[in-house]
Amino acid sequence: MNPVQKGVLGAVLITAAIIAAIIYYPSAGRKELDRQGAAARVVIVTTLFPLYDFAGNIGRERVDVSLLLPPGVEAHAYEPKPSDIARISSADLFVYTGNFMEPWVGDVLKGIHSPKLKVVDCSKGVTLFRQEHPGEGHSPDHEGEHYEHEHGHSRGVDPHIWLDLGNARKMSASIAAALVEIDPGGRETYEANARAYDHVLSSLDGRYRETLSSCPRKEFIHGGHYAFGYLARRYNLHYIAAQGFSPDSEPTPRQLAAMTRTIREHSLKYIFTEELVEPRVARTLSRETGAEVLTLHGAHNISREELEGGRGFAGIMEQNLENLRKALGCGQ
Ligand SMILES: [Zn+2]
Repeated sequence: MNPVQKGVLGAVLITAAIIAAIIYYPSAGRKELDRQGAAARVVIVTTLFPLYDFAGNIGRERVDVSLLLPPGVEAHAYEPKPSDIARISSADLFVYTGNFMEPWVGDVLKGIHSPKLKVVDCSKGVTLFRQEHPGEGHSPDHEGEHYEHEHGHSRGVDPHIWLDLGNARKMSASIAAALVEIDPGGRETYEANARAYDHVLSSLDGRYRETLSSCPRKEFIHGGHYAFGYLARRYNLHYIAAQGFSPDSEPTPRQLAAMTRTIREHSLKYIFTEELVEPRVARTLSRETGAEVLTLHGAHNISREELEGGRGFAGIMEQNLENLRKALGCGQ
């Protein structure tokens, strides 16, 4: 065979190999194979920490999951940089909370033309609620205004859906379903991991229900933004927050005075503060009333130390339950 014939034969063989590969792996959305022939990991980009943790627990070694929020960054003020948009557009799966938490998603997705990108809106199938009046909070006697997904605009919707463990289970199930679609070969793994993680969340939910049903107090005061309305609703607690949905608003002197009164009237021994922000409001209320400051972690994001220490959403919620138990005097 002369060099020209060899070259032609080589080209024919390579072309045949490519065609065989396409025929052998015909299903749309099937993962590409890397050089070693092993299945490539599904690349997942998520917005908030709970979604990152759900995706990691369900996908485990089959996925490569990353969080858009840098560690320690406050979630409500976040807006994507061009490099974040590039990360979303090169992913297989993009997971976000909902349009009320990440209002920028619609515009960003309009600019991305990636045929392989699958998008999961985790609020699908979740019942959304509007916020109660700031400074008053959720009371079990007042069910709050229910928000319908179909109504379009989402102003005034409480975005903290993940802090209801029933919602967290639904959100995890949505992620598991998307992974099965993208990577059908991993179905058994994803379904087994999803079942195991669902069990973790449902038993935690059971412990919350049991522990919080035996408390002499039902009200808790949060010197932070209104993040725990869904949690309060789930366990019939009365929740009062100093601020609105986002940590950037300041409580008025009137709201602070009302909260000081509530702490005194109910002889509350603890006041909560949130993660990743200066607990100024909680400290002021603590100085005024002598109530001790405890953290109630909204899990939007975690610090670098927490990330490196392997802190998970379930662990954060365990600690929240312990702090709530203490503050409400449950089981004493
Ligand atoms: Zn928040």
